[in-house]
Amino acid sequence: MYDTLIIGSGPAGMTAALYAARSNLKVGIIEQGAPGGQMNNTFEIENYPGYDNISGPELSMKMYEPLEKFKVENIYGIVQKVEVDGDIKRVITEDASYEAKTIVLATGAKYRLLGVPGEEEYTSRGVSYCAVCDGAFFRDQDLLVVGGGDSAVEEAIYLTQFAKSVTIIHRRDELRAQKIIQDRAFANDKIHFIWDSVVKEIKGDETKVSGVLVENVKTGELSEHAFGGIFIYVGMNPASHMVSDLGITDENGWVITDTDMTTSVPGVFAIGDVRQKDLRQIATAVGEGAIAGQGVYHYITEHY
Ligand code: FAD
Ligand code: NAP
Repeated sequence: MYDTLIIGSGPAGMTAALYAARSNLKVGIIEQGAPGGQMNNTFEIENYPGYDNISGPELSMKMYEPLEKFKVENIYGIVQKVEVDGDIKRVITEDASYEAKTIVLATGAKYRLLGVPGEEEYTSRGVSYCAVCDGAFFRDQDLLVVGGGDSAVEEAIYLTQFAKSVTIIHRRDELRAQKIIQDRAFANDKIHFIWDSVVKEIKGDETKVSGVLVENVKTGELSEHAFGGIFIYVGMNPASHMVSDLGITDENGWVITDTDMTTSVPGVFAIGDVRQKDLRQIATAVGEGAIAGQGVYHYITEHY
């Protein structure tokens, strides 16, 4: 039995693992992909203290390396369910089951779909959710980015190094993105905006995307625009389906904790983007990971 099983090795989970392992606990971390979580899809990180500028994959490896030193056990698996049976917590993957005294849910969030006709059909044929992964396939093309948050605007700037032009379409007349990111986009000659408008349909031929049908939400006017690629950044949904039976989420699936990162189920902690909170950042994920790693230690010393 593990002292703690951490689900997800993004910045939150890796930090919780480091703190728990340094307290000499038996720690396992279950992950379905590469360590780093969303950081792996981030080209440049400029707001993580200690680094002027570091790539997401590089910061991921820097967080991962100490886990080996402190003998955190890496387990590959896609977690389907977390069961609580009194003091025993069970984590169930597609082909295995693991037991632990405590669980730390650090599963983060996943991009939200736009939900318009053509989106599913043209995914990977011109529709993408990851500029870092796919941007280089769209050299010298006119691209569309959907959304007005940090991700949309930052990734639009990133895409200008490949694209002929990048148009950001936003449903309001004001961006949600941080001011410093907005200013960079407004100063970039390759970036254009379509304000107060939404994509109604993604169009294409048999092989790939050719453009979009757009509606101006103020006037109701419809117009067609040609684009070679469409990048969708309209927010995130919590990856919390595995705890949906535990009664620890709000109506949108975000996990509710107190400031100690404990949920209403004793011995079940939640940290990082999966939590109900305002600021989803690497720095906040790491801070919450430290609190939970230490919280696990206190829980185990008090209960066992
Ligand atoms: P995540 O990073 O989402 O990691 C969760 C991990 O859990 C993943 O590895 C996932 O595979 C795993 N997981 C999920 N479900 C399961 C399951 N069922 N079974 C097993 N494993 C599972 N923040 C900044 O501070 N600065 C930035 O510059 C910045 N840029 C960003 C750019 C983009 C494009 C995006 C999308 C986000 C950016 N962010 C940035 C936000 C930041 O990346 C997140 O706040 C942070 O990664 C959250 O960390 P986390 O550990 O909570 O979750
Ligand atoms: P977000 O902040 O939730 O923004 C989503 C954007 O999409 C909003 O502008 C929203 O419009 C728009 N939108 C939502 N649903 C839509 C729909 N159906 N049709 C059209 N537009 C729609 O999400 P995010 O940008 O992915 O960021 C997620 C988190 O990661 C945030 O906490 C963010 O701060 C963080 N992040 C940080 C950085 C950084 O620090 N450098 C970089 C990237 C992400 P409205 O504005 O009208 O709501």
